[in-house]
Amino acid sequence: MYQNMKGSTHILAPTEIAVTAIPEDERVWVPQAPNVWFRPLMLNTLQGQWCNLLRVRRAGVLSRHLHPSPVHGFVIRGQWFYREHDWVATEGSYVFEPPGEIHTLVVPDDCPEMITFFNISGCMVYLDDDNRHVGYEDVFTKIDMCRRHYVEVGLGADYVDQFVR
Ligand code: FE
Repeated sequence: MYQNMKGSTHILAPTEIAVTAIPEDERVWVPQAPNVWFRPLMLNTLQGQWCNLLRVRRAGVLSRHLHPSPVHGFVIRGQWFYREHDWVATEGSYVFEPPGEIHTLVVPDDCPEMITFFNISGCMVYLDDDNRHVGYEDVFTKIDMCRRHYVEVGLGADYVDQFVR
């Protein structure tokens, strides 16, 4: 029998998250690059992992990068491809990015907008065309980006806290 219950949940259990994934409030989207935004859903500081929606509009590019850990994606809207591969991820597609995979995400010219759910472990290591490291993102830099943006747009730095575990 469970001890130390708070309602129907153990007092040590983190609280659940249940939100409308595609937000009605445009300010929830955090700008990441020209024509690229992310919407935080779950920022896991214990496992160095995060879930977010990525939104890329026409001509937007997510810079060349690799992940040392696995990534899972599910396309909710629109389509996109990796410059390095010959397949296109379309609405409803599931994508697995194995560790070590290097890619550059591009939205085709005839697609006005794509939105994809990504579950990312570890970090993103950004690379130049000669595979030199030029930057990285992890769950902590993501949280920092959210805080900065939510202060700027008036939601407040602590708006992101609801997604942090
Ligand atoms: Fe990736």
